[in-house]
Amino acid sequence: MGLYKCEAVVLRAEPFSEADRLAVLLSPEIGKVRAVARGAQRGRGHLCASVQPFVSGSFVLWQGRSLDGITQVEVRTAHRGLSQNLEAMLAASYCCDLSDALTEERQEAQALHGALLAALGWIEANPDPAALPVALRWFELVALAASGFGPELVQCTACGSELGEPAARTGFSPQGGGVVCGDCAAEDEAVVWLSRNALRGLRYVAASPPAALAGVRVGPRTMAEMRAALDGLIGHILQRPLKSRALLDTLS
Ligand SMILES: [Zn+2]
Repeated sequence: MGLYKCEAVVLRAEPFSEADRLAVLLSPEIGKVRAVARGAQRGRGHLCASVQPFVSGSFVLWQGRSLDGITQVEVRTAHRGLSQNLEAMLAASYCCDLSDALTEERQEAQALHGALLAALGWIEANPDPAALPVALRWFELVALAASGFGPELVQCTACGSELGEPAARTGFSPQGGGVVCGDCAAEDEAVVWLSRNALRGLRYVAASPPAALAGVRVGPRTMAEMRAALDGLIGHILQRPLKSRALLDTLS
């Protein structure tokens, strides 16, 4: 029985049997791992408290034939504040679900793991509903980029021409994976329109670290356009809706 150690965040945890819990972990080096925590479902002991969504720590796992098992967790950050507020909890769940959906098992996920930890910390420290949309757009942009799906925001994705300074209106093609010039937008039936501020906003958020965005607020119309473009892109990539996102949307 080979044991190994890794840093990881718990993306999700659910009952596996009456006594055991199944967790999906995201580790920077190993990537996504599904693992069983024996006895965690019985409601006692240290695995019960530490194999919970949003917990970040150092995990000791044993290698199984089909599923690995968790034997020990040294919790670094439990992110308990996230469960104090429904909107913050759903936003954090959405970040975890999106991370899960964008990754294959056992492929290194350094950038995504770092982005997820930053997003969970950001949402926990600032659960104000007005601040959540910027945090979520930042995470979507960074998670997409970390998974190789980052949207192109400068060149037309159909013909390659440079778009430069945002025009009053720019098309965004979910299928193309980014912005399109006026000519190419006319031939794209699924194009989403971005105002000047919305394209500026996407470029700014994509290029900024969380610390630079903490106090940034975006008006509702501009945010709705930024969101529609990213929703279109994510929907095109995943080809399925995420439950946590639907719940978050009904709440706001
Ligand atoms: Zn073009």
